[in-house]
Amino acid sequence: MNVARLGRPELGDIEAAASRALDPYRARLKFREGTRCPGCGALYRAGNWVWDSDAMLGMYESLCPACRRVHDCLPAGYLRIDGSFAAAHRDRILQLLEDQNRIVCRREPLARIMSMLERDGVIEVTTTDADLALKLGEALQASYGGELDCEFNEAHHLVHALWSN
Ligand SMILES: [Zn+2]
Repeated sequence: MNVARLGRPELGDIEAAASRALDPYRARLKFREGTRCPGCGALYRAGNWVWDSDAMLGMYESLCPACRRVHDCLPAGYLRIDGSFAAAHRDRILQLLEDQNRIVCRREPLARIMSMLERDGVIEVTTTDADLALKLGEALQASYGGELDCEFNEAHHLVHALWSN
């Protein structure tokens, strides 16, 4: 298993690797031009999933890779959030995560938060896209400081990120 454990200075490298590496969910599924996802409504056009609600364009139906991950309960990214600051500012943090999710998903339809669970002051976030877990961690760090650590498991195309503050 190829697991890269890197500290903060190399986060950019991890991000690059995660976005460069081929997500098996995207690689093994072939879609026909004009396929509409019945789960989220995204449209497969010119090799990409896009937001386009033109009813004339959806000729076929198939779950997109993101909805398939949700269906299979198999995230590509995990972000764990802990620390006393995080526990004390839970609502702000959840709001920031939702805002970032909306911003990223508008550009990249396959990048979404799958779940957010909170237990004993620790928030666990899962995402359909490996890179998104890291982007969410970076957004938290940019807004509130703290420490961001991350590892990318290339063999399983998985990002585990941890933000502590
Ligand atoms: Zn979908």
